[in-house]
Amino acid sequence: VASSRSPQALLDARDHAFARVQEHYYAAPPRIERGWRHHLLDTDGRGYLDMVNNVAILGHGESRIADAVARQLRLLNTNSRFHYEAVVAFSEELAARAPDGLDTVLLVNSGSEAVDLAIRIARAATGRTDILALTEAYHGWTVGADAISTSLGDNPGALESRPGWVHLLDAPNAYRGRHRGADAGRYLEDALVRLAELDGAGVELAGLVAEPIFGNGGGILLPDGYLAGLADAVHARGGIVVADEVQVSYGRLGAHFWGFEQQGVEPDVIAVAKAMGNGHPLGAVITTRAIAEAFAVEGSFFSSAGGSPVSCVVGSTVLRVLDEDGLQENARVMGDRLHAGLLGLCEHFPGLGAVHGMGLYLGVEVVAGGPDAPDPDGAREICEALLEEGVIVQPTGDHKNVLKIKPPLTIGEEAVARFLDALERVMVRRKAWAAL
Ligand code: PMP
Repeated sequence: VASSRSPQALLDARDHAFARVQEHYYAAPPRIERGWRHHLLDTDGRGYLDMVNNVAILGHGESRIADAVARQLRLLNTNSRFHYEAVVAFSEELAARAPDGLDTVLLVNSGSEAVDLAIRIARAATGRTDILALTEAYHGWTVGADAISTSLGDNPGALESRPGWVHLLDAPNAYRGRHRGADAGRYLEDALVRLAELDGAGVELAGLVAEPIFGNGGGILLPDGYLAGLADAVHARGGIVVADEVQVSYGRLGAHFWGFEQQGVEPDVIAVAKAMGNGHPLGAVITTRAIAEAFAVEGSFFSSAGGSPVSCVVGSTVLRVLDEDGLQENARVMGDRLHAGLLGLCEHFPGLGAVHGMGLYLGVEVVAGGPDAPDPDGAREICEALLEEGVIVQPTGDHKNVLKIKPPLTIGEEAVARFLDALERVMVRRKAWAAL
């Protein structure tokens, strides 16, 4: 890609025009202008293994998506008040992936919008306002989604600045939190105590919004039975259970299409986005007819681009390619390989404390001696060193010390081996430096 500007001039212009609040990866980021499957290419012709792009679930430069978009753009792109097949077909296909009874789809353009809409729907269906959420979670940037987002990595003051309608439970983090390992079952006991306190204070919950696996926390699995117990308690109080599936769904977990399946829960409302459009802005809320109709009573719902013919064709093509290429199964097989390889590295290098997650949604704790010593500097240095190795990984979590590993589902044996080798080399070099 030709450009008259030097790399630094382009970076300075980016900070100006695109606003400094929208951070970029890396101190000196490569200029990436092309991608193919799980590979990225910079303008110097260097290739990188993309271990971070869970949005591009089918990989970059997917020609079946490009062809479908080009064809549909030439035919028609308008809003969903018009009557065309793509919106019906995609809504049916999406609903078919959801548990029985969740047969109604509302289409939006992002995860934030989906979560915001889910909150509004829970409120409309219950006639209540208050929402229960978990700490360490991120749900989006819109006013509603931001209100229930308390991940400190993005907003260190988050816990002090919640509106009165937001009620929080401690993230059931079995690695670093209050209850660890085999004690993790106690998080549910704590949650039930907290709910009883809220009852005592006269709080009536519209619902619970939770990620079934902590995405932002670095792929941390919830303790067995946690979400099921919490969902029962919320239902017993007349509240609605919303699963925020924006990060972990669409087969990424390998064994499951949806994250809530891992917890054995059937939510009332699913909020989904990201992978759904393989990078095209696409989000959805999936719920029951009764809940959607309670929301419709409030007024009509409309999103100018949500459910457009192009978006729907993208959505349908993503689902088709996932199936055609067997990507969920690939996530399971490659995820197991990665998990095993990463565990091996953890045994070797004390700076790597644990591996979270499953399938191709994994997180590796970078620590300086154990769970209570998260090492964000180490995580950043490892990411910079991996960049030198031609591998893109980024840190996440409240302490920004968890390497998030969530590549496109196209990744194969060779790339998995390349990633593990690169991480091993980086860790060997760090050990050698430390010994000097
Ligand atoms: N929910 C979760 C769990 C997310 O991880 C994100 C984005 N990181 C969102 C919602 C918001 O999605 P979007 O960026 O598409 O608005």
